[in-house]
Amino acid sequence: MIRTVYVNGDYLPEGEAKVSIFDRGFLMADGVYEVTSVLDGKLIDFDGHVKRLWRSLAELEMTSPISEAELLAMHRELVVRNGIDQGMIYLQITRGNPGDRSFLFPDASVPGTVVAFTQDVPNMADAPAAKTGHKIITIPDLRWGRVDIKTVQLLYPSIGKMAAKKAGADDSWLVDEQGLVTEGTSNNAYIVKGNRIITRALGNDILHGITRAAVLRFAAEAQFEVEERPFTPTEAQGADEAFSTAASIFVMPVVELDGKPVGTGKPGPVATRLREIYLDEMRKAAI
Ligand code: PLP
Repeated sequence: MIRTVYVNGDYLPEGEAKVSIFDRGFLMADGVYEVTSVLDGKLIDFDGHVKRLWRSLAELEMTSPISEAELLAMHRELVVRNGIDQGMIYLQITRGNPGDRSFLFPDASVPGTVVAFTQDVPNMADAPAAKTGHKIITIPDLRWGRVDIKTVQLLYPSIGKMAAKKAGADDSWLVDEQGLVTEGTSNNAYIVKGNRIITRALGNDILHGITRAAVLRFAAEAQFEVEERPFTPTEAQGADEAFSTAASIFVMPVVELDGKPVGTGKPGPVATRLREIYLDEMRKAAI
């Protein structure tokens, strides 16, 4: 099936969708994005993703060429047109096409570019990886200082995923100059000690994960203690469990860090339970 994608108000077959070579997203990575998961043909935490999108745009002094109501209608239209039951919708808004290359931001008369497309993942809720868990390596966090803004500068996360692949692992966690884990290449990072879930506090040095917010809320409701502080890879290796969260993986158990098993080396009960609660609750609230 040929995907129908969205470009600046039009629904087009993917092969016909075009963006200018002068688009600042292409030339300068001057754009932001969101990924919203879809379960049972419905959007998961759409509200959270739109709120973060508005924040990312505001931090970069960009105005949205599309309203929240239009975004919702467009996401739903893409789900229907592409017959998505489980998967994701990728949305990107760039500062648009000023007609030439210049470092300076174009004036406000240049409209932003909006593109969106679906990714069909039929077994997303039941992903086999959630039953075996992820093997993680650590690498230095060499990203810029505003990773709380969800920009399309994803070269370093790509390098991190490639490093993991070359090492026979599934992903990388990033470690700051103090030797503390910031987050994963495309997910937030957690450890579990007893009844306590530990994850780095929000700041400019991590993305404010929408899945993170929901999982910490559900964890507190389920009587887990939540401690927002950074941890080292060594502390993670000695923890009872570890896991990562993101819209694309929900709650993913981490079973190995830098070649050493975490806990029993199998997905732990806390991560497994949080994944179940997350999927149940988010399915109920999906729109
Ligand atoms: N951290 C980074 C660097 C990410 O790229 C992502 C998602 O893409 C996340 C965390 C998780 O965010 P969310 O739960 O909103 O998907």
